[in-house]
Amino acid sequence: MSAKPDYRAWFESLRDPSERHRLDEVVYTDSAGGLLHVVHDMDELKKTPGDEWKRIFMERGHRNEWPYGSGVWGKKEWVLPEVDNENVVSMYEGHTNLFWAERYGRELGIEDLWLKLCGNSHTGSFKDLGMTVLVSMVKEMISRGVEIPAVACASTGDTSAALSAYAAAAGIPAIVFLPKGKISMAQLIQPVANGAIVFALDTDFDGCMEIVKQVSARDGVYLANSMNSLRIEGQKTVGIEIIQQLDWEVPDWLVIPGGNLGNVSALAKGIDMLLELGLVTRKPRICVAQAEAANPLYLSYQRDFEVFEPIAARKTLASAIQIGNPVSAEKAIDALRRYDGVVEQASEAELAEACAAADRTGLFNCPHTGVALAATKKLRERGLIRASDRVVVISTAHGLKFVDFKVSYHRMELADIVSELPNPPIELPADYDTVRGAMLKEIEQRFHG
Ligand SMILES: *Cc1c(COP(=O)(O)O)cnc(C)c1O
Repeated sequence: MSAKPDYRAWFESLRDPSERHRLDEVVYTDSAGGLLHVVHDMDELKKTPGDEWKRIFMERGHRNEWPYGSGVWGKKEWVLPEVDNENVVSMYEGHTNLFWAERYGRELGIEDLWLKLCGNSHTGSFKDLGMTVLVSMVKEMISRGVEIPAVACASTGDTSAALSAYAAAAGIPAIVFLPKGKISMAQLIQPVANGAIVFALDTDFDGCMEIVKQVSARDGVYLANSMNSLRIEGQKTVGIEIIQQLDWEVPDWLVIPGGNLGNVSALAKGIDMLLELGLVTRKPRICVAQAEAANPLYLSYQRDFEVFEPIAARKTLASAIQIGNPVSAEKAIDALRRYDGVVEQASEAELAEACAAADRTGLFNCPHTGVALAATKKLRERGLIRASDRVVVISTAHGLKFVDFKVSYHRMELADIVSELPNPPIELPADYDTVRGAMLKEIEQRFHG
């Protein structure tokens, strides 16, 4: 009989692999202040052949055996093997729909355009994928006797929603620091409803980040930002899941909006594992899409990543990526170098029109997805994406979290933007003849004009 597998993972310094820490240690950076990442015992994972992993992952999906029915925990051995199943805090995240956006693809001249709707998740964004892992580890640490008074994050709205929900489910106090007036109403009400301690600070995201770093360093609250690489372990399942949903065929391009740049790092890390463990053999290319108003990675890409300089992010409709000093820039640059990556940017008008045009084909996009769609359009126009390429755009949040933006667009009230596709409700008296006349005119104009 062969020995029971002993899957293990630990934190490792990016710069100095000899510096390691246990995952139940309260540690976010290496001794020189650099980033950590989670490293798995790959030799142990390699004992299972690639095809066998595929079979295991396929079998667990959508089933009820705790916690493997979750899209994240169905890959537990690759994510966080040492946590006790009883300490897993999951709302069966993942398994979000990936579908062929045929009509919008045709408009862009891309036959094989797909959308991965990560926003169809418990709190409406991909942040659930990482937060289930981080909060589960916190629950595990508490059960091992580590003292953690609360979990905290700075947020542009979606991280705080995810943290608040998962912490509430686990009964762990959550503290969130939000830039006052810079997030959507839906995003603000989520942590409020989940009972988190909500601070609206008179600063931007980067300013909130400075505060949360201080309270975590001085007051022992556990830091839940993506600087904490536990979150990356959950988020990395997105790339694995996309390829699984494509029956293990690797697409030509993955396009992802980037702010703090944890998610693109995670995307690459998941695909790294697929390659190393023999589930796939080819690499996709990756495009990070940034808002022009918050584009430090784009600027660095223009200089072949030779330098990376933080900027002061300006206001953008894509508020969740309004970040000038991204924590995971170094990891993202490494990922883009390995995946023949590019960085594209979108102006406010470009992202708003991309959202509106795609919405007309039945989608319902958040502004960050609009940034990714606008970037996809530009790459196609430049010929970098070819007509026959299979392209997967990662939609990061649900459009319903950003109705304020959509309402303003259709009311033609967005500052400095002339909406090209406004569709405001037509207000009329309840009179049959008036309604009929307007109806026939609209059908004629819109569908036969
Ligand atoms: C967090 C977030 C992003 C950016 O992800 P990063 O890891 O910070 O690059 C993009 N879109 C939405 C909706 C988000 O919530």
